[in-house]
Amino acid sequence: MRIPIEEVTPGTTQAEVIGWVHEVRDLGGLTFFLIRDRTGIVQVTIPKKKVSEAVLAAIRDVSRESLVRVTGSVKAIEKAPGGRELVPDSFEVLARSGSPLPLDVAEKVPADLDTRLDARFLDARRPRVTAIFLVRSAVTRLTYDYLFSRGFLHITTPKIVATATEGGTELFPIAYFEKEAFLNQSPQLYKQMMMAAGFEKVFEIGPIFRAEEHNTTKHLNEATSIDIEVSFADHTEVMRLLEDLITHLYRSVQDQCAGPLEALGITELALPTAPFGRLPYPDAIEMAARMTGEPITYGDDIGTIAEKAIGEEMGSHYFITEWPTAIKPYYAMPCENDPSVCKAFDLMHPRMELSSGAARVHQHDLLVQQIRAKGLSPENFEFYLQPFRYGMPPHAGWGLGAERLVMTMLGLANIREAVLFPRDRHRMTP
Ligand code: ATP
Ligand code: MN
Repeated sequence: MRIPIEEVTPGTTQAEVIGWVHEVRDLGGLTFFLIRDRTGIVQVTIPKKKVSEAVLAAIRDVSRESLVRVTGSVKAIEKAPGGRELVPDSFEVLARSGSPLPLDVAEKVPADLDTRLDARFLDARRPRVTAIFLVRSAVTRLTYDYLFSRGFLHITTPKIVATATEGGTELFPIAYFEKEAFLNQSPQLYKQMMMAAGFEKVFEIGPIFRAEEHNTTKHLNEATSIDIEVSFADHTEVMRLLEDLITHLYRSVQDQCAGPLEALGITELALPTAPFGRLPYPDAIEMAARMTGEPITYGDDIGTIAEKAIGEEMGSHYFITEWPTAIKPYYAMPCENDPSVCKAFDLMHPRMELSSGAARVHQHDLLVQQIRAKGLSPENFEFYLQPFRYGMPPHAGWGLGAERLVMTMLGLANIREAVLFPRDRHRMTP
């Protein structure tokens, strides 16, 4: 019976592994193979004089990255990976790999990101790359577990929509029979409508589509959003939930992903501690202006340069709060005492924004007024506005970018590293 390579332990007779040929070293009388699966690497040592003709024939024929099945006994040996080696009774080529390889899985020859993404299946065989997606998978599992255990209901919402969530230009139009439709930018309107259904706490982990014109290291055209919405909660409560989730994810990845973290060269994650700092927007603007020397003033967006400067000063995860109503979406709730300020927040990692959220407007007439104030037509939002006329609870929520979360957690330089098949301005395949 086949076992994962990480479970190959000395003293086992007749261990069977299936994996890819990572490296071959032929020293004449001895041939060493490194065989790799997603759990690790094992050395296979072949004393040519002592093995069968069938094994010799197989190793003559095999190329790097071929898939092989090896059975044999396991010996402890200090210098080999994991402190053990497999001496084969049988060595069988299951699927031969062509050569030359599009890229070197053993990473002796570096490959640029484009080459890697063109042959992503091979790139993902690299232990370092496999590790990223093992961590990403763990983050997804942990997030589902966390939200389910707190009474959240998982929903799915349409990705084909008739209107933009927030207006704007970041929309992909698509042909929908005889009409034009769009790929949805965010589940925002739909998760809010489920508050009117009485679902109370909902979440979705799903794709969002943004027609970002420019190639940056933190934007994708198709990203994954972790979205929640909670009834009878305000912004401060969903901020606490968000910081609790983030600290929980870091701790759990640290505890549960030792192997992948080691493959990534990470001995310890920089564990954030709750509560995160709360930086009011006016202070953030002042800090950005002071640090960058740029003429950044109240009412401006916090762009990439400002974001970096503030992040350096803050040093760890923090929230920007007390945003001007004018630069946040219409669904953000204005403050009662000063409606020019709203109950929105951004969660920031020192490198970039991770999440935006807010207490939402739940009063129909105020919502209509705010939609108009953004220069949008309430008529286009009738399906969304209707639930606000039939007993909409107060509610709050946020959207958290899954790729940015993994990227910042693991210190990846480019967001494309955190997604298997990135979609950007120039890439639609594979
Ligand atoms: P930014 O200003 O950094 O472009 P945003 O404010 O437009 O982000 P939101 O609409 O607030 O993004 O979306 C919520 C979260 O979803 C963001 O904080 C981010 O983590 C993620 N996100 C949004 N757009 C993208 C994108 N194009 N690529 C990757 N992640 C994204
Ligand atoms: Mn945002």
